[in-house]
Amino acid sequence: MSKELKLPIYLDHHATTPLDPRVLEAMMPFFTECFGNAASKNHAFGREAHRAVEAAREILAASINARPQDICFTSGATESINLAIKGLFHAGGKTPQHFITVVTEHPAVLDSFRRIASEGAEVTCLPVDAQGMLDPGQVAGAIRPETKMVSVMAANNEIGVIQPLKEIGAICREHDIFFMTDAAQALGNIPLDVQALNIDLLACSAHKIYGPKGIGALYCRRGNPKVPLAPMMDGGGHERGLRSGTLNVPGIVGFAKAVEISLQEMKTGQARLRGLRDALYQSLREGIPGLRINGHPDQRLAGNLNVCIPGIVSETLIIALAHDVALSTGSTCTTAAVEPSHVLKALGLSSDDAQASVRIGLGRHTNAAEVEHAAHAIVEQVARLRGLASSH
Ligand SMILES: *Cc1c(COP(=O)(O)O)cnc(C)c1O
Repeated sequence: MSKELKLPIYLDHHATTPLDPRVLEAMMPFFTECFGNAASKNHAFGREAHRAVEAAREILAASINARPQDICFTSGATESINLAIKGLFHAGGKTPQHFITVVTEHPAVLDSFRRIASEGAEVTCLPVDAQGMLDPGQVAGAIRPETKMVSVMAANNEIGVIQPLKEIGAICREHDIFFMTDAAQALGNIPLDVQALNIDLLACSAHKIYGPKGIGALYCRRGNPKVPLAPMMDGGGHERGLRSGTLNVPGIVGFAKAVEISLQEMKTGQARLRGLRDALYQSLREGIPGLRINGHPDQRLAGNLNVCIPGIVSETLIIALAHDVALSTGSTCTTAAVEPSHVLKALGLSSDDAQASVRIGLGRHTNAAEVEHAAHAIVEQVARLRGLASSH
């Protein structure tokens, strides 16, 4: 017997994920009996918290093949990205500095670059092809003598496209340029190895991988080569002076548990997600004439689907579906304003097509019955909305 469906079905896992119960269980003691400040090394309470933080640091470091001392805990990927971009620029002083990034990046990256550009940095924003892929040759072509860093996201939060990090990392290393990646959507979903990929800075976040909100990390290579970063937060000199402030011990413990589970279950979990996602795509394609996929068909996250449904307005569809499915247009982080997604526009979609697109994000707890129900509901509402439009 299948268990009854609980509505609405959550299909917005790129925005955030539910806390895995195993993560909550690991965190609980650090809210109650193990409440010590990890910086209070002169008593047992503090030492216990410190040990938990260092164990978590090792787990996170190992998951990306980094050294534990190169992990800096932050409040999330947004802070990590700000620290990396602004920190590097500010450490560079008044010398001319050039940076390279991509149009489809998350607003945390684009707006940080906009900020340092207003302070004198030169920033090149590279285009992507119609499937959202960056050509590594473009990176090589944009490098100048004063280029300091290249920042390319690992996996896109709207269209799930996975960029060729290895090729880009090799180009950066060849030219002695730092390579940064926003891995908020990638960590736990695809293998990441900062040595093999030549990554010098990597931003990640717990709440995208079934961990708690408000905790993340910046991997910053501090040797061979050493990436110089000016801190944004001054104070007690925590995190080797990179990020002052009392550590969020329960969050850090939960983050490590979330990473551990994601790695253990990566292979089976991703294969399962891909199966569900492909079934959903198939049902939508059969039921919705004219439906097109946005982004590369294969080089994308297993749980991601982003489709353009000509003739509808995605905002309207999402509201019509609200009882059945929780969906998003994709550009969650660009405030409440209804603007066409900068990512979809970068792929060459017209404003109308961009505003006729929806992002579907499947996750760890999504099951086949939910996918079937969601597909049915979407097909039905699209037919209804298209019928309304044509009867005017
Ligand atoms: C969610 C996300 C961020 C922001 O992460 P927070 O931890 O919520 O600040 C940055 N980049 C990408 C690609 C994301 O998906």
